[in-house]
Amino acid sequence: MTSRKVKYKPNKFITPCPKCGNNTEFTVKSDYCAEDCCEIWAVCKCGYDPTSEDKGYGNRLEDVWGGVSDGNCQDALTFSWNETLELIAES
Ligand SMILES: [Zn+2]
Repeated sequence: MTSRKVKYKPNKFITPCPKCGNNTEFTVKSDYCAEDCCEIWAVCKCGYDPTSEDKGYGNRLEDVWGGVSDGNCQDALTFSWNETLELIAES
């Protein structure tokens, strides 16, 4: 597994963490879930991971190569973090 700490400027694009309100500092993780597939997801600096919640379980970005490039980090926040929090909030 690879992980990378990312820090963004104050923004309106990332949904604030429901536990601590942070939306600028995350750890983005990348790990193999199958032979040709990696999962990429973001964990808040407080340790909250919406994709480990029942309602958001496994809602991670899938990518053939994985990795934590700038683009993958942003995608993980858009498609894994933001969308998973939306799913959890809706249900
Ligand atoms: Zn948090």
